[in-house]
Amino acid sequence: MIEQFIEIKAANADSLLFYRMGDFYELFFTDAEVAARTLGITLTKRGQHLGRDIPMAGVPVHAANDYLQKLIAAGHRVAVCEQVEDPAEAKKRGGKALVRRDVTRLVTPGTITEENILDPGEPNWLLAVGRVKGEEKPALAWIDISTGAFRTATSAGERLLSDILRIDPREVLVPQTLFEDPDLRPTWDALGRLANPQPNALFESASASDRICRVLSVSTLDGFGQFSRSELSAMGGVVAWVEKTQLGARVPLSPPQREEGASTLFIDAATRTSLELTRTSGGSREGSLLKVIDRTVTGPGARLLAERLAAPLTDPERILRRQRSVTFLRQENALRDGLRSALRGVPDLMRALSRLSLGRGGPRDLGAIRMALSSGRELADRLADVELPEELQSARQALHALPEEIGDLLGKALATDLPLLARDGGFVGEAFDEELDAQRALASDSRRVIAVMQAELAEETAIKTLKIRHNNMLGYYIEVPSSHGLKLTEGEAKARFIHRQTMSNAMRFTTTELADLESRIADAGGRALAIETAIFERLVGAVLEETECLRIGAEALAILDVSAALAELADIENWCAPTIDGSLAFEVECGRHPVVEAALRAQQGDAFIANDCTLSPPQGAKAGALWLLTGPNMGGKSTFLRQNALIAILAQMGAHVPATRATIGIVDRLFSRVGASDDLARGRSTFMVEMVETAAILNQAGERSLVILDEIGRGTSTFDGLSIAWATAEHLHETNRCRAIFATHFHEMTALAETLPRLANVTMRVKEMEGEVIFLHQVGKGAADRSYGVQVARLAGLPKSVLARARTVLERLEAGGASTPGAGTLIDDLPLFSAAIRQAENELASDAAPASAHEALLAMLDGINPDDLSPREALETLYRLKDVR
Ligand code: ADP
Repeated sequence: MIEQFIEIKAANADSLLFYRMGDFYELFFTDAEVAARTLGITLTKRGQHLGRDIPMAGVPVHAANDYLQKLIAAGHRVAVCEQVEDPAEAKKRGGKALVRRDVTRLVTPGTITEENILDPGEPNWLLAVGRVKGEEKPALAWIDISTGAFRTATSAGERLLSDILRIDPREVLVPQTLFEDPDLRPTWDALGRLANPQPNALFESASASDRICRVLSVSTLDGFGQFSRSELSAMGGVVAWVEKTQLGARVPLSPPQREEGASTLFIDAATRTSLELTRTSGGSREGSLLKVIDRTVTGPGARLLAERLAAPLTDPERILRRQRSVTFLRQENALRDGLRSALRGVPDLMRALSRLSLGRGGPRDLGAIRMALSSGRELADRLADVELPEELQSARQALHALPEEIGDLLGKALATDLPLLARDGGFVGEAFDEELDAQRALASDSRRVIAVMQAELAEETAIKTLKIRHNNMLGYYIEVPSSHGLKLTEGEAKARFIHRQTMSNAMRFTTTELADLESRIADAGGRALAIETAIFERLVGAVLEETECLRIGAEALAILDVSAALAELADIENWCAPTIDGSLAFEVECGRHPVVEAALRAQQGDAFIANDCTLSPPQGAKAGALWLLTGPNMGGKSTFLRQNALIAILAQMGAHVPATRATIGIVDRLFSRVGASDDLARGRSTFMVEMVETAAILNQAGERSLVILDEIGRGTSTFDGLSIAWATAEHLHETNRCRAIFATHFHEMTALAETLPRLANVTMRVKEMEGEVIFLHQVGKGAADRSYGVQVARLAGLPKSVLARARTVLERLEAGGASTPGAGTLIDDLPLFSAAIRQAENELASDAAPASAHEALLAMLDGINPDDLSPREALETLYRLKDVR
């Protein structure tokens, strides 16, 4: 057995092998250790191999899905190895011959279909990268086998990572040569365990076409458009992997759809992360923009919404087509409510269809299709006789085109309560199949039939006490008391009653009729199941015939859900339909940040303050404006920056936006550099990350781009930082000529407004009351007069001594003129060390509530920086510290 195991394992070296033994899947050797660790199951041993114990761990077959889910989530692949012949067959080959086993399925993160493993609201993309020699740009192809969706696109080389992250796949197949390409190393590193290197042969572009045609059952791909060789390579790769993992099962793939790079708003990887579109920077869905705007009521709707949010459009016509649906349903309150309640509970049509097509479906999947079809009809009725915008019209058409016959057929065929597995039987309703009804009647009527037979026999033999009984040994038998036994073993009766057993006080017989009835009863159950299985296959066949129609209907349902959900959101949250055009306008009146607003509401804190933003080309100018935003920390700068980027994204995905009025001239690329975090894993400091991201923006942003930059130059010395920020602003204004908001704490930069005509100074307003700052969160014209950093530090609870010291330094600096802080003078004026200590002491002495010696010591220690002390100062410090006692 271990030999067989080793052989199969060798062919599936990169997967954990689930080796079927009876009611368990067993894992051996290192697989067992990995599984035991990941799943928290017991590691045991079984037999020996090369003189050593063989580690073993097992999971019961009936619970295998839960374990698979955990292993997949932990990034493993699993090969499921089943017995592929009847043990009886193996016996025939020889006494101890082993049952043949083979891998019947490879389970990988990108190829799962199980309902309980999949997240209903998220697509499960499997993606492949391809790039052939002679073509520079890598291509991507991605498939969701749980729904059959199939896409492809060409990526500009430098965008590869952003493109992959936008799609958010569960598994990325990479040809070995690309995986080893040093230029692409950072991309694979960033993807971590998502990247799955595979032999180049899988991505052979020459044979890709044939392979794809075979899977799609077409003779040529020409009908779907022209594909580059790199695209073919990626498409071939992803299809080959699907074939490999599904081991020949038919995947219900839709025809490949090409995504034109230029037709979607490009959002680079850093921007995507920092804007927290579908996930927060911590990786959770909670707190992301998607979570806040998602009012969909079905899984497919949630997936479509996420997809639209991840890839906003750039063609005004396409955007408006979507927006009109939202606007329409926003006005039609009653219709919207009706649609939403009808949509609630509509099952996931495509996922059910996909499971059926892969031979992994059951009666409940047929039930899901039955229900989706009847809901589809109901929705189409609700939309009948209504004048609809174009997108909703096509949705209605698609719903009308749903195959009624299939719905009727399933309606008639299926029972109300459906088992998970076809082999459990009992899912075909009554009066659908005569033979099935007869078989079922036979099984359930057996008692009655036997009672009748018993009465007849009793009468015929004139033995009133004759009984028909049943036990496991004899099955059904006729029993008479011994005293009557002889009657049946003699004369005419002898031919009819076959003697089975003599007991002390009874005799047992059978008859050919009874034996017949018995075997019919026993068979009836089996036969009923066989008939049901055949009906199941027939129904599945009929459903799969209509795959195309069902797919279009499923899309229509998702579109209705998304449109109604966005309308609901706009209505409840009071958003507005933005004007979208091909200009360079960017006008937002009373814009809000939906996530911050929701958070403030949840905390029942202050209301969110709405703010305008105007980046349209100023009078007479040909390019958009640049806003230089100053203001204290915590004043709301980042919130303002992000909210405008989010408004552009929402507008271009076809939604309404959180503002009272907005005009957005199409943005083709969105860049942001907000918040810095160390990328220690890649050995980059905060400053380095910031500079790399800034470089990417300055090198790529164009006239149609929208750029938001937060606090460039924070991670280095003041002069360095100011110079870099200054030069960056100039470059954005002069060379990139994009619409931009630039937040900075360098007040010196406000002077730029004098030389850069399209640059305007704005500031986050604050009010100062009795030394306290109050953040108004209001964006106003002009520049901040101070930075209020010290006040903010106080709010944060910095030690008093430090605050006092900071205030003194600040006063000196400001007195010396902001333009030349002259660190030298500072040192002369304010001997850093001793002054700090003295200040702390004074503070302590003057404090109304005298601090304990312990606190005093702490405060003084806070003021000491050992690296700055001369030996003499250090000694003095020690004396002082002793004095505090
Ligand atoms: P900054 O970037 O200037 O340091 P943030 O944008 O991080 O400031 O905002 C700090 C906090 O102020 C936010 O977490 C939020 O609670 C609050 N805030 C920001 N903008 C607004 C606003 N427009 N209305 C109300 N509160 C706001």
